[in-house]
Amino acid sequence: MKATMDKLVNLCKGRGIIFPGSEIYGGMGNTWDYGPVGVEIKNNLKRAWWKRFVQESDNSFGVDAAILMNSRVWDASGHTTSFTDPKMDCKNCKTRHRADNLIEAHSKGAVNPDTMTNEEMEAYIKEHHVVCPKCGKSDFTPIRTFNLMFETSRGVTEEGQNVVYLRPETAQGEFVNFLNVQRTTRAKVPFGIGQIGKAFRNEITPGNFIFRTIEFEQMEHQWFCKEGTDAKYYEEFKKKAWDFLVDLGFDPEHLRFKDHDKLAHYAKSACDIQYLFPIGWSELNGIHNRTNYDLSRHAEFSGKAMDYLDPVTNEKYIPYVIEYSIGADRLMLAALTEAYDEETLDGGDTRVVMHFHPAVAAYKVAVLPLQKSLGDKAREVYKKLSKSFMCAYDEAGSIGKRYRRQDEIGTPYCVTVDFDTANDNTVTLRDRDSMEQIRLNIDDVAAYVGEKIKFD
Ligand code: ATP
Repeated sequence: MKATMDKLVNLCKGRGIIFPGSEIYGGMGNTWDYGPVGVEIKNNLKRAWWKRFVQESDNSFGVDAAILMNSRVWDASGHTTSFTDPKMDCKNCKTRHRADNLIEAHSKGAVNPDTMTNEEMEAYIKEHHVVCPKCGKSDFTPIRTFNLMFETSRGVTEEGQNVVYLRPETAQGEFVNFLNVQRTTRAKVPFGIGQIGKAFRNEITPGNFIFRTIEFEQMEHQWFCKEGTDAKYYEEFKKKAWDFLVDLGFDPEHLRFKDHDKLAHYAKSACDIQYLFPIGWSELNGIHNRTNYDLSRHAEFSGKAMDYLDPVTNEKYIPYVIEYSIGADRLMLAALTEAYDEETLDGGDTRVVMHFHPAVAAYKVAVLPLQKSLGDKAREVYKKLSKSFMCAYDEAGSIGKRYRRQDEIGTPYCVTVDFDTANDNTVTLRDRDSMEQIRLNIDDVAAYVGEKIKFD
């Protein structure tokens, strides 16, 4: 793979994919804004996910729940008490670290801190003389646990204010709507609820571009099923999650499953799919068998029965949940990494090209008049094709330079309007990957491209 984080950050900034957040004010650490090209790519990734997991999944339904939820939700989910990370400060340079990350980096992944208590982590750091990556000293404060939820307050007067949280995950929006969705769709278990939305975490060590940010989007799908069928569906969702990535064009050599060594007390099984990011193998998504923990806790805390009544057997039970969760921004980083290529061309020049799946690319077609004088005809073509999909228009610079610009953002097809176009109504269509060109009637371009950009 040829992508490095620096190359990706520079390309994204230069080509309108992702900009640093609040840049004119000097930025705001670990926030990023998607530009004109980036917003299209991210929307396309979200669309592909929704198509696969909601639209084409048997018995799956979507929701879009509120970000701000009743605080009792977070008591029930356990986030108010245990959504914490082990924080340690370097006494010398005052940098804040996660103790588990320090151990993982020091042992180069050989030691798994997930299985350690805070005391064991402190002892390991002392014994192995783990140093601060910033200043090189080994002098840390004891571990303190730090809740990752962002707090804000709701109310019109100072006295009457209540604490509310920006949701740290979207999943609870699916759980609290379990009854609503079941009732209104008359769905029979097993069925699924999917959601795409923003989540917020006051991460101790955000960074690595959009890999770990404090505000991000999640795409989560909960599959409600009967106890006893859960192991089968866990395996099915592992496969579905894997196939989704491979169908998006990911090389299976760049993906691997990683079982969790330490399971949450309620979880029966859990694993991640890791991707070979420029920072090394890291989590891209998770698949969890959460038993009936979530619905049971909501039943307990809300006082509302969360049982499902099987209409055939008359059996009443609280369903188990198989959760599949992937960050849209983390998928974006993986897609950028996977697509990035530098090719040496016949003449010795190099070109940077993003080999996105055509369904993911921001613009499906760039319309380029061979010369500015052909602009009117080219704009006509642009207008016509824009009715079918996102198109770019570019008339500045040599045709070679314009091809390069489109290659760098991964536009799969360039349509060139030339002097023959006015006479025979045909254009040249250039393929991004093979750079081969064919001649097509203008009226056939939308159908030709439409076939190629499908995500099935
Ligand atoms: P990590 O171990 O990386 O902190 P996690 O196990 O806490 O992640 P989950 O709570 O399972 O992550 O969240 C599901 C998915 O959401 C992750 O697989 C990842 O794709 C994405 N995600 C989680 N935290 C962040 C973040 N801070 N920034 C961007 N994406 C995130």
